[in-house]
Amino acid sequence: MLCIMGAFLNQPNQDPMNAQEKKAIDWKSLGFEYTKTDYRFSALYENGQWSEGELSTDEFLHLHEGSPALHYAQQCFEGMKAQTSKDGRVLLFRPQMNCQRMQNTSDRLSMPRVPEELFLHGVKEAVRANINWVPPYGSGASLYIRPLLIGIGENMGLRPAKQYMFRVMVSPVGPYYKTGGLSVIKLAVSDFDRAAPHGTGDVKAGANYPGGLYATRKAQELGANEALYLDAAERRHIEEAGSANIIICTRDNKLITPRSAAILPSITRRSIMDIARQELGMETEERAIDLRAELDSFVEVAACGTAAVLSPVGKIWFDDAWHSFYGEGEEVGPVMQQLYDLLCQIQSGEKEDNFGWTMEVPM
Ligand SMILES: *Cc1c(COP(=O)(O)O)cnc(C)c1O
Repeated sequence: MLCIMGAFLNQPNQDPMNAQEKKAIDWKSLGFEYTKTDYRFSALYENGQWSEGELSTDEFLHLHEGSPALHYAQQCFEGMKAQTSKDGRVLLFRPQMNCQRMQNTSDRLSMPRVPEELFLHGVKEAVRANINWVPPYGSGASLYIRPLLIGIGENMGLRPAKQYMFRVMVSPVGPYYKTGGLSVIKLAVSDFDRAAPHGTGDVKAGANYPGGLYATRKAQELGANEALYLDAAERRHIEEAGSANIIICTRDNKLITPRSAAILPSITRRSIMDIARQELGMETEERAIDLRAELDSFVEVAACGTAAVLSPVGKIWFDDAWHSFYGEGEEVGPVMQQLYDLLCQIQSGEKEDNFGWTMEVPM
């Protein structure tokens, strides 16, 4: 029974007084890197059933060499963050959405769904057990949470795995882009495609990402932070960056974002569109956006995602030239600044959460 699972877990032996003693880390200088924390959560799927799951101190996995995750990339992941509020609570942001997306991804990859109860339990346990690693309020850092679902066990041919592991690892992180904080980034349109029109671009399958490593390197050689992908069929419409969706504030003060079946539906982006509409009274549109034909109407551009939060895009490279947006591409525009502030205030519990988006991790 999932509801009494806690009783069976290997509970970390934590002195409650110690529980609030944060690790001696310079939180402000953290980048987006892996830091080994004390515990991770994992559960196994075998014979059609999920185990209750448990915490462990071992960051290594012992896997069968035939595991389908290793040969055929039958695996997927999620990304989310926990933050400390001013009054010391630890908040998750819309974790049910991550669970739902992981379930959609599992369906597409012929993997069993992680039930919502197990998903949320694993996430909360991993955060709670590593409470000393959750960056303090105001540090600018957060605890990144990485749920993972992998097909494991003996196998040779191309077929779904018989066993699966659901794992949740966490690591304190700082800003995703090296520029840090809310600073302006640059994107370069890639000569490569991220996802096919009817492929797996709309699910968070690990297989979508290694092809982008080369595209990112090419973008960085041009002086950009990240690649920007256009639609694979026509190479006209904006899709997204390597790990972030795109939002654009147009000259008529609309917030627009690309609609495409090949884009990963970002929870951050969907939240920002809601904030723009309900808090700023902006008109919002999700539609195909033709980069070259509509460029002149773009005032402010940004990339958004759990890792990137909201990163204003100052310049985009394509057709052999840089194209600049707000403030010659050097400044953060007022709309993106407002959206960033509102999003961060809701996520950190500073602003009243009228949307009901945050979930407290019980300690
Ligand atoms: C994870 C991811 C995003 C961001 O999604 P969020 O739910 O906002 O974290 C955007 N694009 C890609 C390709 C991603 O993998």
